Amino acid sequence: MAYIQFLGAAGTVTGSKHLINTSSDSSGRSGFQVLIDCGMFQGQKEWRERNWQDTPMPAREIDAVVLTHAHLDHCGWVPRLVKEGFRGPIYATPPTIDLCGILLPDSGHLQEEDAEFYNKQKKSKHTPALPLYTLEEAQESLQYLQAVEFDEVKQLSPELSFRFVRAAHILGSSMAEVTLKTDGQTRRLLFTGDIGRVRDRNVSPGKVVHSGPTEGETADIVVMESTYGDRRHPTDDPGPQLATVIRQTVQRGGSVIVPAFAVERTQKFLFMLKELMESGQAPKTPVYCDSPMAIQAVEIFLKHTEEYSDETKALIARYGSPLEWPGYNFALSPAQSKQINESKVPSIIVSSSGMVTGGRIQHHLMQRLPDPKNTVIFIGFQAPGTRGFTIKSGAPEVKIFGEIVPIRAQVVAFEQFSDHADTPELLQWLHTFPKKPAAAYLVHGEPAASSQLRDAMTKDLGWNVQVAQWMQKVQVI
Ligand SMILES: [Zn+2]
Repeated sequence: MAYIQFLGAAGTVTGSKHLINTSSDSSGRSGFQVLIDCGMFQGQKEWRERNWQDTPMPAREIDAVVLTHAHLDHCGWVPRLVKEGFRGPIYATPPTIDLCGILLPDSGHLQEEDAEFYNKQKKSKHTPALPLYTLEEAQESLQYLQAVEFDEVKQLSPELSFRFVRAAHILGSSMAEVTLKTDGQTRRLLFTGDIGRVRDRNVSPGKVVHSGPTEGETADIVVMESTYGDRRHPTDDPGPQLATVIRQTVQRGGSVIVPAFAVERTQKFLFMLKELMESGQAPKTPVYCDSPMAIQAVEIFLKHTEEYSDETKALIARYGSPLEWPGYNFALSPAQSKQINESKVPSIIVSSSGMVTGGRIQHHLMQRLPDPKNTVIFIGFQAPGTRGFTIKSGAPEVKIFGEIVPIRAQVVAFEQFSDHADTPELLQWLHTFPKKPAAAYLVHGEPAASSQLRDAMTKDLGWNVQVAQWMQKVQVI
């Protein structure tokens, strides 16, 4: 039988890994095996520990990997897979490959830093603590990446082909349409990856990339994300409230700290800040983009003009490259980063990681969280178990670098920046399918979000929908 097996992002929002096996029999013989996404588990320990488990089959027996986009929960396990012996091609769109080129080595660097920290503190149960993979191993794994353009049909084996279509989630993001022909039967499988906001600027303000996921898809089986399966995003413009929060913080002599994913979300936020300051809505305040890969991220972003929405094109035409804006400071050295930390002058500090799971943002928060003059602004999803989730949910304290840090700063969260469609938008997109698939499996969601979306899809569309379970195998042919 041919099957799909959910090796990650089932029961949680991270660790996306879905295996397609084109045929298997009782003797254990395998057909062609492809992994759709190869993401890292993040957040709660129970899930993170699964990053250390091997794949159910030896990694060298996997024939190929297809990546939908460059977020680490979709590609961050690639270096580990290669470390375990995988040597096949890893297909992705050109912008995804460019982004992986900075994100995977950075992830390796963070893994090494974490291990080093735990060894110094002797806080790990494992002695010595080891990185999941190193910066060098991450760089090594990049050689297996191969570019596939949108809409190009790529034949992987006699029975299996795929093409990328736009998902409108982040730069280069795609859905994978897979065609499987075996035993005289054909099945079309659609792996949505993460799905972006709908094609309507009033509903999704500030959309940076290509607007709206590809409509009119057909599939026999849909494997779909459900991050916001129980949520409705606010549709109002976040600009005025953001300007007010910045003005009030600066007036009381505080600084604004923004944990943000270095790619895409940071660029989107920088353009919005620029507009607010240029129009006089927010006071002109020094901006520090304190992420070691900030310059590369902006350069990749500016290179892929084919990905922009009209709104982004207009902003770039008006303001040019953020790297040249006066008052904006990029790619700071560790010494400069330390200087901002000690500075008492109000500033806006944008730093990663977006969920405060690592990176320089930890130092900035450690320094600024105890002072009520400061403000922390969240502009992204915070997975349960992350420090970002703890801070956002109003906890009185948070543990950073093994120390308890009191949270007295103002904490504000904006949901409008989301790059994921909410429930009404997902349903709106699904209504563009000309016919019902035989089955849909929901992945990439917390259990409550996935089950609510399942109920909404069953009621609204009459589809046969199931919430995927971790390690579950579903027969395709
Ligand atoms: Zn994503």
